[in-house]
Amino acid sequence: MGEPAEESRRTDEGGTKSKDFIRQIIDKDLRTGRYNGVHTRFPPEPNGYLHIGHAKAICLNFGIAEEYGGLCNLRFDDTNPLREEEEYVQSIIEDVRWLGFDWEDRLFYASDYFDQLYEWAVQLIKDGKAYVDDLSPEEIRQYRGTLTKPGRESPYRNRSVEENLDLFERMRRGEFPDGSRVLRAKIDMASPNLNLRDPVMYRIIHASHHRTGDKWCVYPTYDWAHGQSDSIEGITHSICTLEFEGHRPLYDWFLDQLGVHHPRQIEFARLELSHTVLSKRKLRLLVEDGYVSGWDDPRMPTLAGLRRRGYTPEAIRNFCNRIGVAKTNSVIDVALLEHCVRDDLNKRAQRVMAVLRPLRLVIDNYPEGQVEEFEVENNPEDPGMGTRKVPFSRVLYVERDDFMEDPPRRWFRLAPGREVRLKGAYYVTCVDVVKNEAGEVVELHCTYDPESRGGVTPDGRKVRGTLHWVSAEHALDAEVRLYDRLFLKADPEDVDEEGADFRANLNPNSLEVLTGCKVEPSLADAKVGDHCQFLRLGYFCVDPDSAKGKLVFNRTVTLRDTWGKIAKRVGAR
Ligand code: ATP
Ligand code: MG
Repeated sequence: MGEPAEESRRTDEGGTKSKDFIRQIIDKDLRTGRYNGVHTRFPPEPNGYLHIGHAKAICLNFGIAEEYGGLCNLRFDDTNPLREEEEYVQSIIEDVRWLGFDWEDRLFYASDYFDQLYEWAVQLIKDGKAYVDDLSPEEIRQYRGTLTKPGRESPYRNRSVEENLDLFERMRRGEFPDGSRVLRAKIDMASPNLNLRDPVMYRIIHASHHRTGDKWCVYPTYDWAHGQSDSIEGITHSICTLEFEGHRPLYDWFLDQLGVHHPRQIEFARLELSHTVLSKRKLRLLVEDGYVSGWDDPRMPTLAGLRRRGYTPEAIRNFCNRIGVAKTNSVIDVALLEHCVRDDLNKRAQRVMAVLRPLRLVIDNYPEGQVEEFEVENNPEDPGMGTRKVPFSRVLYVERDDFMEDPPRRWFRLAPGREVRLKGAYYVTCVDVVKNEAGEVVELHCTYDPESRGGVTPDGRKVRGTLHWVSAEHALDAEVRLYDRLFLKADPEDVDEEGADFRANLNPNSLEVLTGCKVEPSLADAKVGDHCQFLRLGYFCVDPDSAKGKLVFNRTVTLRDTWGKIAKRVGAR
């Protein structure tokens, strides 16, 4: 029987669910009795913060375990002491938990297995299947050959078992400098698969490890540690990204030589997202070179950045579910991710009024000192979210963009002589405009129709425009940060200049900070991370930079759904 056909899993609005190729393989393994249950793991290397691509792997591994009544471990593949840090471990733990997954007491580290891995390496030496090589890293590269040329055997390849055992032991004891020797698996220098041309298992690195301290000065390579770590944990299905397909024969070889529990490795296409980069190395460059304010900058595709931006775990999980898994690489439009968060926030975000670029509006015929409260609904999508009272008075702020002195014919907002509806309050007509010396409009004067209370008139006359507003004396000050795509091009790697890299495509206008914004008083109690919809402006959330008396909001996403439009056009949703 061949491998099951590739199929991606989508949960459409229609509710059709088909199993993806990974789940089909698992079904078969359970049916044939290859495994009696399902045990997966998410194995990050703690050398950076997690990004949305990792979310795909997390949802897949934890999701599958949940569906099959199995288990999923969180394991740090911390084999490289030079790149790994405790800060990253903590952030990864926080992010996986935030996404909504639980590994119970199964938090592991590849470094927990260093003793076992060392013993297994000794076993391979004894079996004549590993040897100490004195070639330099550069020579090893040269001897490896290419895809079209077989490799050459190292002159040290046929050392005796005794000599290898002695040298390996002395490597471990710290007798040799970094880079002077390595332990290699003795497989096949002529293999068409380069990974099988005597891959390095151990290198000498005199460096402290974030967990094992100075105990070791030989460290296992990822290739030597990964499969064995899965085996030790009793993993049944080692799900990883496509670039490990070529490593599978090597992992299989190691496990077969050792004769230990043998997980099945299944590769899937990694998530690539338009207008951003998903590589910890590149994201680290953006952080270290100050292009962004940190790993949690709201423009970053990291989970910490998305969280700060206002993305919810539900939106991200839904996104991961919708993109499904496949065996071929493709780029997902970031508009789909934005669609998912919009969809989620539409259901849960309280509607409020905020004015980002305030323009004073005075209602000449409204009694001075009078305040009315209008009851407005918190979320038209969910009556259960109730209503709140919004104060209205003689002096208001409206959006500067909602006024034009000399508007085109089809302009339904404010202009001299035009009447509009103030959301939930009254109809007002602009009767005068005040300008400063520079000729800029600084204040509008209006009259209101007392008969239009609540936004309807007894004569039923129509106005097309409905504007948001806040009462000047009641409004709170706020800073609002608006974001655009981090990169100008859908493919940030697409650079014209020679020698340039993805950084050449950074969008210089990806952040716009607006100060002096005015928001309605109900936001006085807003807490960091709270979500809301500013009517007509988008979804926002409260940034951790907020302090007592200082509200800072991030715009999560605008209200305009470009994905919905695309999907409608191509008939796919
Ligand atoms: P990066 O290239 O960002 O450094 P990585 O693969 O080196 O990613 P790891 O910490 O090794 O990062 O990844 C942990 C797990 O997440 C691995 O199983 C990996 O296959 C998976 N993963 C990483 N990036 C993606 C992605 N873009 N899409 C799906 N899965 C991913
Ligand atoms: Mg990696």
